[in-house]
Amino acid sequence: MKAVRFFGHKDVRVVNDIERPVPKGDEVLLKIGGAGVCHSDLHIIDEGTVVGTVFTLGHENAGWIEEVGENVEGYKKGDAVLVYGPWGCGHCKPCQQSKENYCDHQSEQAYGGGLGLDGGMADYMLVPSSRLLVPIFDLDPVIAAPLTDAALTPYSAIKRSLPKLMPDEYVVVIGVGGLGHVALQILREISGAEIIACDVTEDKLAFAKQLGAAYVINSKDADASEQIQKITGIKKAKVVLDFVGATSTIDLGTKVVSLDGDLTIVGLGGGHYQYSMNGLPFGVSMTNPYWGSRTELMEVVGLARQKKIHIEIEKHKLDDANEVYERMRQGKIKGRAVLIP
Ligand code: NAD
Ligand code: ZN
Ligand code: ZN
Repeated sequence: MKAVRFFGHKDVRVVNDIERPVPKGDEVLLKIGGAGVCHSDLHIIDEGTVVGTVFTLGHENAGWIEEVGENVEGYKKGDAVLVYGPWGCGHCKPCQQSKENYCDHQSEQAYGGGLGLDGGMADYMLVPSSRLLVPIFDLDPVIAAPLTDAALTPYSAIKRSLPKLMPDEYVVVIGVGGLGHVALQILREISGAEIIACDVTEDKLAFAKQLGAAYVINSKDADASEQIQKITGIKKAKVVLDFVGATSTIDLGTKVVSLDGDLTIVGLGGGHYQYSMNGLPFGVSMTNPYWGSRTELMEVVGLARQKKIHIEIEKHKLDDANEVYERMRQGKIKGRAVLIP
């Protein structure tokens, strides 16, 4: 079968000689409908966040059940499912609570398809346990794949700050890409806070306005933080969601977040932050959330089935993976690119 393989630093190749896996026990073989292209792949490919192993990329996956191992119950061939991405041990307390994204054993094992183990940029994908599948019912797997990350990750980040996202408050969203463009819609649907969106190009800012941002600011402007504070006034923004995670965006977040606010850094842009006593308003919680839980993914499916979120999708062939990654490096993708076998 065909697969998009990571061979090492900046070395991604589309190959045709991968053997189709055979599921056993609780394993499930999925016929891939779509595999989303996440910026985290670029951190792997260009910056070496996963080293020393060759594997199939793609950690945002959806498809139809093709074959099940002998112990799998409750699923049959043809069922449409998402693959929950962070694969935990399945037994520790966070895993029992469905929060496999915070599995106790994350540091000891390769923890997901497309993140060290074989992922979904292929004709078929082996999922190690039926526990990791989430049914999508009438949704189309070709377009639902990004729900597993581009929607789940902002959903989980927003949910933890929900009590602070009241209608008299402001929320700042930095980066309106794959994750950010879904974050804006989730905020619009489940919170009352007024949204200020930041990106670095005019088309992304126009896109943000369409998705519910009341204000847009170009974060390349030297006075971006002053422009934001002009909108929020003295109270500042109760929540800042940074989907870039560069030193400059973290710095912007610290300048605009309010007393007792949340500064949530989702982006893995390699930024640095030096704590100092007067560098942050009192009471700020700074967090670096990772993905979301399995039950939160079920809630995200609910949002999509109710048509409250719409993922803007560009469809591409597996063969075009390298071109798509290059366009992502240049910030040229609107919404999410999905590779379709
Ligand atoms: P993307 O490439 O689709 O979008 C990034 C967006 O940020 C683009 O619109 C780009 O124009 C914008 N941008 C770049 N520099 C900016 C700046 N200085 N100010 C404002 N906007 C800027 O990326 P994505 O797939 O949405 O991923 C975003 C980040 O989140 C990546 O670092 C990715 O690795 C990370 N991520 C983290 C998790 C997690 O669980 N923590 C999960 C998925 C992705
Ligand atoms: Zn991702
Ligand atoms: Zn675990």
